[in-house]
Amino acid sequence: MGMAEMDGVTVTDCERCPALCESRSRIVNGDGPEDASLLFVGEAPGAQEDSEGRPFVGRSGDVLNDALRDRGLSRSDVRITNCVRCRPPDNRDPHTEELANCRGYLETELARVDPDLVVTLGKVPTEHLLERSVAVTKEAGSVHDVRLGETTHRLLVCVHPAATLYDRSQRSTFDEALDEAVALVGAGAGDQSRLGDY
Ligand code: URA
Repeated sequence: MGMAEMDGVTVTDCERCPALCESRSRIVNGDGPEDASLLFVGEAPGAQEDSEGRPFVGRSGDVLNDALRDRGLSRSDVRITNCVRCRPPDNRDPHTEELANCRGYLETELARVDPDLVVTLGKVPTEHLLERSVAVTKEAGSVHDVRLGETTHRLLVCVHPAATLYDRSQRSTFDEALDEAVALVGAGAGDQSRLGDY
């Protein structure tokens, strides 16, 4: 096992996954307020995220940011993180062992932020956190109470924002799940004073 260090919710050094140490330029930590009510969990950083060091800053991020804005929320109102913090080679799915290696960081972040609702974006995070296979399109919008590490969280299943780009029929599934997420966290989802900060 390589070095691994976490400062609060930020992983500062980790060498647990040899393939990911090779493919990453940097560790991409979660982004957004540490007291957010709404926390989104994606799969793993892509090329743009790896280059900028922030999650969901590429095309998927644009879809998510627009969807938040359409619901009166700003990116800075929510927290966004990934199951795996380093970019996999050729954007492949993270391997089971890589997900396991990064799991403790995610659990620590979830416990620290303690959001009212965790929204899983796509199949990888949904299956990772529900610990079973999931047909995400069918189960989008469903809510589950799950024990993750030391804490229990309310989790809502959502399709990945990228799915709306290559399959238009996923758009309404994505939109309906996000409507549900915002309804569940209520007006407290956004600090209204920050709504100008898109
Ligand atoms: N897709 C993800 O799952 N995570 C990111 O950070 C970017 C794209």
